[in-house]
Amino acid sequence: MTIVERSCGHETNISLEGLKPFEREGKLEWAARSKCPACDPKMRKRDAERRQNELADARERESRMGLDPLRGSAKQVDWATRVRVELLEAAFEELDLEEAEFNSQVAGPASQVDAARWWIDNRELAPAELPSALAGALGEDASAGTENPFA
Ligand SMILES: [Zn+2]
Repeated sequence: MTIVERSCGHETNISLEGLKPFEREGKLEWAARSKCPACDPKMRKRDAERRQNELADARERESRMGLDPLRGSAKQVDWATRVRVELLEAAFEELDLEEAEFNSQVAGPASQVDAARWWIDNRELAPAELPSALAGALGEDASAGTENPFA
């Protein structure tokens, strides 16, 4: 890895591995006169598209799980939607619960904790911690957000 200052003023690591000497020079010159990925509008567009695709995918998984959309700001909901489906899928794979147990301990409570914020705050949870965290969110902390009158 070689550190190059890009035309936008940011430094990035450029890999010159496997390149011939004249190719290295060409690549370094190209890097120095072009913007870093974060500043390059084309890369930003590609990033935005990738995020859109991930979100569309998460929404589809969410509806397959029978979950209603989360509440929060658009940005929180976008993020939390992905966090929630990933946590649920990880829990499904790792906890090895019967379907009825999974529904009562994970999927059911997960559909009631509909505050995007809660999922973002708890995105690092291990699958094994999810059932008790959900129970806690629904039991003790009403502000974690449910509009379900039976909760
Ligand atoms: Zn930059």
